[in-house]
Amino acid sequence: GVRPLIAGNWKMHGLRDDGLALARAVAGGAGAAKGAELLVCPPATLVREVAAALEGGAVAVGGQDCHAAAKGAHTGDVSAPMLRDAGARFVILGHSERRADHGEGDAAVLAKAEASMAAGLVPIVCVGESEAERLAGEAEAVVTRQLDGSLPDGFAGAGGVVAYEPVWAIGTGRTPTESDIAAIHAAIRAKLRARFGEAGGTLRILYGGSVKPANAKAILALENVDGALVGGASLVAADFLAIAAAA
Ligand code: 13P
Repeated sequence: GVRPLIAGNWKMHGLRDDGLALARAVAGGAGAAKGAELLVCPPATLVREVAAALEGGAVAVGGQDCHAAAKGAHTGDVSAPMLRDAGARFVILGHSERRADHGEGDAAVLAKAEASMAAGLVPIVCVGESEAERLAGEAEAVVTRQLDGSLPDGFAGAGGVVAYEPVWAIGTGRTPTESDIAAIHAAIRAKLRARFGEAGGTLRILYGGSVKPANAKAILALENVDGALVGGASLVAADFLAIAAAA
């Protein structure tokens, strides 16, 4: 089947020494990951140095966001070509924290995804419902709408990745039931097939939200779960590697 991707989203964590030590520890233990592909996404300040430290090894590096333009008068932003130039191969887009903190909607995520692909990066597009939406029975509709609005036409050709991250499961220690995860991932798979045909059957769909060594095996065994997007547990090399070993 599809090679699983275990991605660490460090979020806004990591000064230089800590970040490099974490990256090296992950690379040093990468043999434990067996078949899974490993990715770490440090803060923008560390992308270049982490990429240099990991060059030639088994662990890829990604950014956590990019601007939709390649360059220009956008103070404080980082472009996709800049990330690529710094050594990134992937970029996380439309994370719920970006959507909440910076008001990013589906159209903005779509534009960023286009920019990332143009720069040679693989986009990891995040979708997921809020707790109110889940309780209202709207989870699948919300996720479907986000996919419709944020995946560009070239997504399958670029090997794009979808990450399902229910907002209420992020950093809370709570996760959906296994059957709820399987149901949403099946819906995402159906959507990808409908949109991209055969290629949609092999695009990776990650689960994210309170993934830990203790729950990784059960979650990663579910059909259409092709890896994980890991936040908190990715800051501890042993935990991140234990999750990778469960893939
Ligand atoms: P946690 O693993 O800390 O819940 O974060 C998940 C996440 O947001 C990854 O992008």
